[in-house]
Amino acid sequence: MPDRLGQELANLKCAAQAHAARYQRIDGLCWPEGTRIAVNFTADFDAMLLRRLNNEPPMQLAKGEFGGRVGIWRLIELFGSHAVKATIFTPGRICELYPQALRAAVRGGHELADHMWEHRVPKDPELERDHLRKTAAALERISGKRPVGSRSLHTPELLRDEGYIYNSHGAPSQWPCYRLDGKGDRCLLELPFHYAIDDAMFFSFAWYASANVEQRLSDTDRVFDMWWAGFLQQYRQGGYLNVCLHPFVSGRALRIAMLDRLIARMKSLPGVWFATCEEVARHCLSRHPKARAG
Ligand SMILES: [Zn+2]
Repeated sequence: MPDRLGQELANLKCAAQAHAARYQRIDGLCWPEGTRIAVNFTADFDAMLLRRLNNEPPMQLAKGEFGGRVGIWRLIELFGSHAVKATIFTPGRICELYPQALRAAVRGGHELADHMWEHRVPKDPELERDHLRKTAAALERISGKRPVGSRSLHTPELLRDEGYIYNSHGAPSQWPCYRLDGKGDRCLLELPFHYAIDDAMFFSFAWYASANVEQRLSDTDRVFDMWWAGFLQQYRQGGYLNVCLHPFVSGRALRIAMLDRLIARMKSLPGVWFATCEEVARHCLSRHPKARAG
């Protein structure tokens, strides 16, 4: 019988092996000629759906509605003013609620990608497939193009089988990496984000029915400094940054102004590639096509 420490080490080793079996690094990842960092601005256009599922009170739903009526438009205008192409992760139901905003995003050159049908993944496999297909069809009706990316906990093999090439949900690495299937074959490209570069962590008032003392109302200057430092660290090492925004959070005027300053400062450095997630995924897939785990 191994002692307790021995058992814990064995458990850790087991967990590390399971992780290694699911993800594959991309050795020597490099960006297109003349660029040294890839930046994905992403917006999760959740609006009211998550709040509805949580049966939260009307004031919370109204907050989500602000995202659909005002916030998304401000983000589209902001990105357009900087010629930044973004990825809008969109629940299928949002296509029914705010089609005009989504059409404006497409006209602005932004990518529409899957964010589940109603912001949840059903446990039943048939229902899960149905949700994924309904969302793809709804997004295609708006954009004229089937989505190729997702931000979700949808089953990776299902996403692949339905024609998806990437997911941007987890944080297994700071760099894009491959998600492998059960046989060790390449399944999807993972475009990682981290909660440290997620507006909801700093600005989302009443997050999940939190108490008054737990409110997240950060000073925008402080968040600007933190995100700029995060960007600069990645820039120095030729890395990758995924900025996760929510229209109902970042659509507030003061936060739009902060993002305006942040993008302008990023643009002051040479070699910053502002791309959609699809563009980054296609670049990785064509430049670094690895078929099997080594
Ligand atoms: Zn979401």
